[in-house]
Amino acid sequence: MRQIIKGGTVVTGSGSFPADVLIEGEKILAVGTPSEMERLGGEEAVAVDAEGCLLFPGFIDAHTHFDLHVAGTVTADDFATGTKAALRGGTTSIIDFGTQYPGESLAEGLKNWHEKADGKCSCDYGFHMSITEWTPSVCEEVQDMMDQGITSFKLYMTYDTQVDDETIFKILRRLKEVGGITGVHCENSGMIAALQEEAKKAGRLGVESHPATRPDAAEAEAIGRLLRLAEVADVPVVVVHLTCKAGYDVIMEARRRGQRVYTETCPQYLLMDDSLYSLPGTEGLKYVCAPPLRKKEDQDCLWRALEDGTIQTVSTDHCSFTTGQKLLGKDDFTKIPGGMPGVETRGTLLYTFGVDAGRISKETMCRVLSENPAKLYGLYPKKGVIAPGSDADIVILRTGVSDTITAADQIQNVDYAPFEGTKVTGCIERVFLRGTQAVKDGQVVEPGLGRFLERGKYEL
Ligand SMILES: [Zn+2]
Repeated sequence: MRQIIKGGTVVTGSGSFPADVLIEGEKILAVGTPSEMERLGGEEAVAVDAEGCLLFPGFIDAHTHFDLHVAGTVTADDFATGTKAALRGGTTSIIDFGTQYPGESLAEGLKNWHEKADGKCSCDYGFHMSITEWTPSVCEEVQDMMDQGITSFKLYMTYDTQVDDETIFKILRRLKEVGGITGVHCENSGMIAALQEEAKKAGRLGVESHPATRPDAAEAEAIGRLLRLAEVADVPVVVVHLTCKAGYDVIMEARRRGQRVYTETCPQYLLMDDSLYSLPGTEGLKYVCAPPLRKKEDQDCLWRALEDGTIQTVSTDHCSFTTGQKLLGKDDFTKIPGGMPGVETRGTLLYTFGVDAGRISKETMCRVLSENPAKLYGLYPKKGVIAPGSDADIVILRTGVSDTITAADQIQNVDYAPFEGTKVTGCIERVFLRGTQAVKDGQVVEPGLGRFLERGKYEL
C-alpha cells in the first residue's frame, strides 16, 4: 500500500523544508514537492494531512528499563505497557538493558530479555547488554553478542551490578577489538556508601538524604576515572544520563585531550531540580532517581550543551514505579526504588521547553532524539532520518497547541506523572511505525507491531 503525508515540514538534523512524504509498504519511497510526488504516482496513494505540522524521524529512546527486577520489586511498566506509551510519545524504537545476573552467561541474560520482550512490543526494540561479571568465557561471548545485533553494552560503576576499574579496563579493551561501545553509569560507589552510612547513623533517613549522599562530585569523579580508563584503552565511551556541570567539564577536558566521548542526558535533568526532594510528606519520593536531580545552573549547562552539540542524545532512563512502590523507602531513603517514567512525554517536553522556548532548534531536537541515537547505536540510515529507503517511522507533531500533562491521561502503567500539570505546546498527533499509522489523534490504534532491531556498529 502507498500512503502520502502531505503539507508538513520535514525536519532533519541539518535543516528543515516543506515536503510531502511518499510511503510504500514499510519504507519511505520519496520526499519532495507535490509535483515530484505526482510524477511518482502519489495521487493514488492514501493521503494523510499534516498541514502545519513538523515531521520528525521516529524518536529513538536508547535508555529504558522495562520489566526490571530491582530494589525488591519490579518496574511498573513491562515491555507491553512501556513500549505502547513510548509509541504514543513518538518513540518508534527503544533500546532496553538486558542484564547478566550473577553466575549467568551473556547468552542467558539475552535470552531472559527476549522472553520479557518478544511478541509484546508496540515499537521496535533492541537491547544493550549489561555486563556484571567478567570471565574468559564472557570475554568470548562479546563477539557472539555483536553477531546477534547487540552492539552496545552497559557498565555500572555503582549498585550491586558494578564492575571495578580493572574489569572496566579489560572490557573496554575487548570492545576495541570487536568494535562495540559501552554506556556507563558513572557515580563513585565508595563515596556514596560512606555518605549513606553517615546519614543513617545520624538518623537522617528522609528523602532529602538521597541527593545529599549522591553529590555531583561523586558523578564527576567517576566520569573522570572512566574517561582516563578509556583514554588508555583507546576506545570511545558513552556517558549515560549526565546530570551536572561538574561532570560536563570533565568530559570536555577529555575531549580536549583528543578523546571521543558521547554524552546522553534526560528530560528530568534538563527540567527538574533538587528542590523537589523537599516537597512535603512523601511527594519527594516520586522524583528519586540516580544520579539525582541537580541545580538550576546544571540545567542551563545541559541545555547549552545540547544546542552546541557537546551532548549528543536525550533518552529517558524510563524506570517507573507506582507511588505505592515508592513508599517502600518512606522510612529509609536507601530503599526508595530509583527511577521515573518518561517515555510518553519526552518529545513534547523537548519541543515545548527546548524548541518553542528558543533553547534549541528543531534540527537539534531531531539530532538528539533521532539522528544521533540512530548513528550511535547502529541503526542509521534505516532509522533516524526521513529519506528514501529508510523505514517509514515518522512522527507528526502539531505545534501551537495547549495541552497539559496529567497522570489521568497517560497510558504508561504509573499512577503519577512527574510532570503533572505541566503545559506543553506540541502534541504528537500521529506516528507511523514502518509504514503503519500506529498512533492516530494521539491514541495508539495499532499496538503490538514492534520488531527486534538488528543493529550494526556505532557510527557517530
Ligand atoms: Zn538507567
